[in-house]
Amino acid sequence: MLKIPPATERKPPRLVPALATALVVGALAVLFSFEGCATMAIRPDSAHYRKPVVVKMTVTGYCNCRKCCGWRYTWYGKPVYDKSGKTKKVGMTSSGVRARTGTIAADIKKYPYGTIVEIPGYGYGRVEDIGGAIKGEHLDAWFPHHAEALKWGKQTLNVKVWLPK
Ligand SMILES: [Zn+2]
Repeated sequence: MLKIPPATERKPPRLVPALATALVVGALAVLFSFEGCATMAIRPDSAHYRKPVVVKMTVTGYCNCRKCCGWRYTWYGKPVYDKSGKTKKVGMTSSGVRARTGTIAADIKKYPYGTIVEIPGYGYGRVEDIGGAIKGEHLDAWFPHHAEALKWGKQTLNVKVWLPK
């Protein structure tokens, strides 16, 4: 017969396993929060966005590379913009966030930061960046690798656009 010891006889929980569990849980939470950042769905909500419009647009692809973003290394290894010579934060958008899948460069006079777009064959994206050649009905969609940006090429597509309210 199983004898359950009274509470006073039970061993107190050992500190080390408790600490280890806390660390594992903490590490997982951090991992999942990063995962959340990387894959967080971009979706317009009616509280912050106007009704969508469909616009025929030229959509090109870009990545963080020198060719796509017009920067170079100085002789001492600092990335600078080709034209202005100002420091380039590689991989950061002009709005100040890290470029990722879904990052879109646009003419922010027409499509301000935060504008959400749905590009056929690419998916949802958010305007977070600008580009010297990106004017008017032209979007530049971010890809993690240069080869993918090249593969995307230049396409004329009907893009669904949600302008911020
Ligand atoms: Zn590139």
